[in-house]
Amino acid sequence: MRPAASPLTGRSAAALADARLQRALADVPGGFVAARARVKAALPEFEALRRAGRDIKDHALAHLDLYLEAFERNAIGAGSKVHWAATAADACDIVLSICREAGARLVTKSKSMVSEEIGLNARLEAAALEVVETDLGEYVIQIRGETPSHLIAPAIHLSPADIAEDFRRRHEQLPQDRDMSSPAALVAEARAILRPKFLGADIGITGANLLVAQTGSAIIVTNEGNADLTLTLPRVHIVLASIEKVVPTLSDAWTLLRLLARSGTGQEFTAYTTLVTGPRRPGDPDGPEECHVVLVDNGRAELLGSGLREVLRCIRCGACMNHCPVYCSIGGHAYGSIYAGPIGAVLSPALFGPQAAGELAQASTFCGRCESVCPVEIPLVTLMRRWREVSFAEGATGWSKALLRAWAYLARRPRLYRVVARLGTSVLAGLARGRGALSRLPFAEAWTRYRDLPAPQGATFQAQWARRQRREIP
Ligand code: SF4
Repeated sequence: MRPAASPLTGRSAAALADARLQRALADVPGGFVAARARVKAALPEFEALRRAGRDIKDHALAHLDLYLEAFERNAIGAGSKVHWAATAADACDIVLSICREAGARLVTKSKSMVSEEIGLNARLEAAALEVVETDLGEYVIQIRGETPSHLIAPAIHLSPADIAEDFRRRHEQLPQDRDMSSPAALVAEARAILRPKFLGADIGITGANLLVAQTGSAIIVTNEGNADLTLTLPRVHIVLASIEKVVPTLSDAWTLLRLLARSGTGQEFTAYTTLVTGPRRPGDPDGPEECHVVLVDNGRAELLGSGLREVLRCIRCGACMNHCPVYCSIGGHAYGSIYAGPIGAVLSPALFGPQAAGELAQASTFCGRCESVCPVEIPLVTLMRRWREVSFAEGATGWSKALLRAWAYLARRPRLYRVVARLGTSVLAGLARGRGALSRLPFAEAWTRYRDLPAPQGATFQAQWARRQRREIP
């Protein structure tokens, strides 16, 4: 699914003016951020765990070909069928052909970002399959016709009242005057609607949080248990996973799972952690008769050999989004890509192209909170800066490019720089007329609309420095 075409600034302005969205986003710091801080404080080795997580991912990426082959061997040994998809279209084709071979009509799904990335639902629905999302947040956005606005909380942009409104509209068969005033009532209603879908599904599709080369297993974590019903009840289970999800051993996977829950939701461990190693064996009480694993590249192999390789460490915890002042102001949809926030600003241009999503790297103050909380220490600011450099080189940033060129010209000519700086300082001080700040400034209305620009106080930095060198001032 390609990002929206409208400019980031337009979408951001609309998000900032959306009072309902702003109310929903106001809960992020008190929720996920506070919960992460609590569990981090309770685990003295948390920083050491982050370094271990980073090293595990770096090692796996350095030997990705070997670990993917080992995963394939062991998954086939356990009875799974393994498929390789080079592109999004290939991945959709493979899933569709498995569905057709199984004679499927109804497909249940648990949350999978890679399925959003490749536009799987639209492809299956175009082939007349009924596709039902079973994660509560995903179910809500599916009935709204939206994409997720967060990696682990896809409906974070909505309040319980918004969801109640959607349920009343969608579940017309239920009494209109039913009580939907509590989150528990909403969950109960979704559960009642989804239960027959779980029981009637021909195919269950899940993502995978991790793939384990040592055992050929896919690890799937949820807090709702919906993935377990999705993968256990239908006759055929399809795991859709991007290739960078593979880690060498179960022990490595456990390290990353300890980081994932703490960093994402602020839990010590996610409520349901399920290992899928092949289909049902003789004597097993339940499980699918067929298990397929679709390994999706879709641009990752190319990333592996690029200067953005570290982004492939991502375990999709969402912590960088929760701590990003820009994400928390505009929400996920304003990014116009299914990957939002700091991770989206790095990953989206890599997957969808800099022309389509390169502007997302501008959606950062570079405060560095994102990389300070990333459980696998991805240098997100450095990687976003790389995309800004690409935009600059390609002239995609218009005015900012002209200004940066002008600045670079002056910076290479110190005498001229000093004259211009002195002139600029005097003009700004004159415009402030002794008030200490400017509330309006030509060409900077967007900045001064929300805050005052402090007026220069006294001489320029260079003038003060020169006087200090001459010991005119202490
Ligand atoms: S970049 Fe780091 S913090 Fe952000 S989602 Fe990925 S692992 Fe989590």
